[in-house]
Amino acid sequence: MNKPAAPKIAANLSRARKHLARFESAPALHLIGGQAVPSRSGETFDSLDPTSNEVLCRVGAGNAEDIDRAAIAAAAAFEVWSRIPGSQRRTILHAIADNIVARAEEIALIESSDTGQPIRYMSKAALRGAENFRFFADRAPEARDGLSLPDEHHLNYTLRQPIGPVGIITPWNTPFMLSTWKIAPALAAGCTVVHKPAEWSPLSAVLLAEIVDETIRAHGLPAGIINLVHGFGETAGKALTEHKLIKAIAFVGETTTGSHIMRQGADTLKRVHFELGGKNPVIVFDDADLDRALDAVLFMIYSLNGERCTSSSRALVQRSIYDSFTARIAERVKRIRVGHPLDPDTEIGPLIHPRHAEKVLSFPRYAREEGAKIACGGARAMDGAGNYVEPTLYLDATTGMRIAQEEIFGPVLTVIPFEDEAEAIRIGNDVRYGLAGYVWTRDLGRAHRVARDLEAGMIWVNSENVRHLPTPFGGMKYSGLGRDGGDYSFDFYMETKNVAVAFDSHSIARIGV
Ligand code: NAD
Repeated sequence: MNKPAAPKIAANLSRARKHLARFESAPALHLIGGQAVPSRSGETFDSLDPTSNEVLCRVGAGNAEDIDRAAIAAAAAFEVWSRIPGSQRRTILHAIADNIVARAEEIALIESSDTGQPIRYMSKAALRGAENFRFFADRAPEARDGLSLPDEHHLNYTLRQPIGPVGIITPWNTPFMLSTWKIAPALAAGCTVVHKPAEWSPLSAVLLAEIVDETIRAHGLPAGIINLVHGFGETAGKALTEHKLIKAIAFVGETTTGSHIMRQGADTLKRVHFELGGKNPVIVFDDADLDRALDAVLFMIYSLNGERCTSSSRALVQRSIYDSFTARIAERVKRIRVGHPLDPDTEIGPLIHPRHAEKVLSFPRYAREEGAKIACGGARAMDGAGNYVEPTLYLDATTGMRIAQEEIFGPVLTVIPFEDEAEAIRIGNDVRYGLAGYVWTRDLGRAHRVARDLEAGMIWVNSENVRHLPTPFGGMKYSGLGRDGGDYSFDFYMETKNVAVAFDSHSIARIGV
């Protein structure tokens, strides 16, 4: 790791080093059928420290053979896990949440070191992950209850049953929290899991798999209910999506990867659930509470390094307040603190990987060529070390520009002026994505009209993104397929079966008499 400049991070750094020591002495391993194992091929890859791009640790590079072993282990464990009562799964999932909380500091320090995300946000990652387990734990006993749909002669009722072993493929942004968001409902439903985490952020997945496996086995159940295989998308990820024993793939990542997975899963008719990219608008009307709107606009793009699917990466600002509001944005962006991720004062840490930093830094040129104004940032920060980039603000953009169309996925805001409601909606919808939208206005009717007409799976009105776990989470258009959250998650991880039982001896059409 880079030498820290500020003394106040020394304590965090020394605690992080203690937790990282296990990964320095040996590669991060897979967890297959309860065993921490290297890849059968013996191959490893390097995971980099985003502050310096030095090797943080080596990681087992899983391939089709490792995935096959994990899928077999998950299929065997499914026979047990799918049959225990939901109330027992509730108890175990709560115990997993307790054990996550017990290791919260370790999870936060490892996540921050591995991803470059500021510790001020990661210190809550484990607690949010634990909440995901508690939320789905409490729903596990009722997950199988169905509908009663009687007709004149039959009682029809539906049963939900876990679909089988599932593959969960996650990205590198907030990996711990996102993985729990997928793994908790899968386990609550009675499915077993093979998890393939992102190759750029493998470490917190090791802790999560360890905690889940140890907790389940401490309750007298077999290994293999959770399995972890590291590796690249095109090898381990692909093999998971093609495996016959894996019944469904829950995937979070880029839109193009979603298309690949759909093709890869076609031969085995894989059920898929996709949470993909976004280019989410935040629309600020001139009648809004502008102080709160300003805070939300800044928070939703410059927190979490801007590496967040629901970030408000396009601010659409009404022309009548455009100059004053954008001046206030610029003034605040200039004050954002870029620094070491383990520094509690840091607001933006280094981006995840040198390739990603290069991508983010390719956009200032497009912005200039296409005629937008770079009001702040657009270059490397911290003297060019690691993957640090300056928080960047593009003003006076138009909707056709690349900075207004493409998911940059960094601390980069593109601001576009609009005249009226109709134009705001038109620009808001003028991208291929449709994940989230944010509306700021005091006009109630307009808030509802814009919420109705924006093409996005989730709209927040006069609010930043605040998650309420029973509500549906997911995107339209190229931002996803299906919804997570509450019962929606169980719809994905379970099969719905109809049972029709005759009430009476109604006459049956007779043939062959
Ligand atoms: P990515 O698609 O490159 O990788 C995600 C995962 O897919 C990784 O584990 C990777 O190894 C795997 N993968 C890659 N190719 C594969 C293949 N052919 N078959 C199977 N697996 C494969 O995404 P990323 O760069 O890690 O993550 C950033 C993206 O994730 C952004 O687009 C972001 O918007 C999106 N994201 C979406 C949400 C959401 O809720 N909609 C949440 C977080 C992130």
